Amino acid sequence: MKLELDAIVIEEACRESALARRILARADGIPIDYVADTRASIVADRSARDAFAAAKRRMIVTSKRGGFVIACPAASSKFACCGYLVMNLASNCPMDCSYCFLQEYLADNPGFRIYANYADAFDELERLSRTAGGRSLRIGTGELTDSLAFDRLTSVSVDLVEFFARQSSLVLELKTKTDEIENLMRVDPRGQTLVSWTLSPDAVFRSSERGTASPALRIAAARRVLDAGYRVAFHLDPIIAYPGAQTDYTALLEALFDTIAPERISFMSLGGLRMTPALRRIVRSRFPNDPMMVGEDVLSPDGRFRAFAPLRVGLYRALHDRIRRAGVVSPLYLCMEPPSVHERVFGTRPASPGALGECLVQERG
Ligand code: SF4
Repeated sequence: MKLELDAIVIEEACRESALARRILARADGIPIDYVADTRASIVADRSARDAFAAAKRRMIVTSKRGGFVIACPAASSKFACCGYLVMNLASNCPMDCSYCFLQEYLADNPGFRIYANYADAFDELERLSRTAGGRSLRIGTGELTDSLAFDRLTSVSVDLVEFFARQSSLVLELKTKTDEIENLMRVDPRGQTLVSWTLSPDAVFRSSERGTASPALRIAAARRVLDAGYRVAFHLDPIIAYPGAQTDYTALLEALFDTIAPERISFMSLGGLRMTPALRRIVRSRFPNDPMMVGEDVLSPDGRFRAFAPLRVGLYRALHDRIRRAGVVSPLYLCMEPPSVHERVFGTRPASPGALGECLVQERG
């Protein structure tokens, strides 16, 4: 995967930070600009033909003024969710998937920011750990970005894995669509880091996932980190209900289980394509020729467009069946689906987010 950047903008106050120094040493000809105030670089450049795409190519090294760790923004009383905490060390992503919710979420401030003071998050995590009452917490960095897409430039993963290796009740989840794992090979996670890959069939990868590693490369990378002592998990999300989807998603699972022993998988999640009306407008304007983005959908009670419930439930059931027949005994959950859909797929009420969260951090294999 080639990280393509037009410019790197460094806030003067971060000039001497370890992160800025690492990036400078590896920038390899990318123009560098120093500014006192990064705000003008962060906002969308409305004169650009595709302001969001232009912003992805402008990396901004700045400081985060607020806290780093929050509850997953997708969590709500309407969904049967997984009790996840999000640690935002960057904002926006150098890849460009058609369906990415960041296109709406970061529309006004899309500059690709990474935070030089990311180590401050470790104090927050230590405080959280002390107040967690013995519960294990899963903390992910892949909510507003891809956890590993720029790791070759920043090596942030090394500090993260080493910090979590010293914890007993905190588990790190690095979520990615890349095969950028070389830094991970240099550190011992001591069982406290889980790397999860979002997987799509080749048809979706080719049509909708610009700049990502191919599904085959993602699965091969998963095998390498598993062998190096990391836990692994997989998200089939978004599942897109195009003609032939069931065959393609089943073939994807076969390829996964040919490489990764099902009993070594820590958990899996499934989630259907969902878009708010605003995101759907943006997607159809930025990617008018992506056939994956124009399937028939209906407005769900939560205000998002999704495939018809019977179609989603049918796909979920078929994939659930294939996953269990392969011998995956670890948790399988649905992302951003209501309890009613959970019941139709699994035949049971969903576990509470806290209970499911606890399950997801248990060691397997
Ligand atoms: S890899 Fe994830 S964060 Fe990056 S563009 Fe794709 S969906 Fe968005």
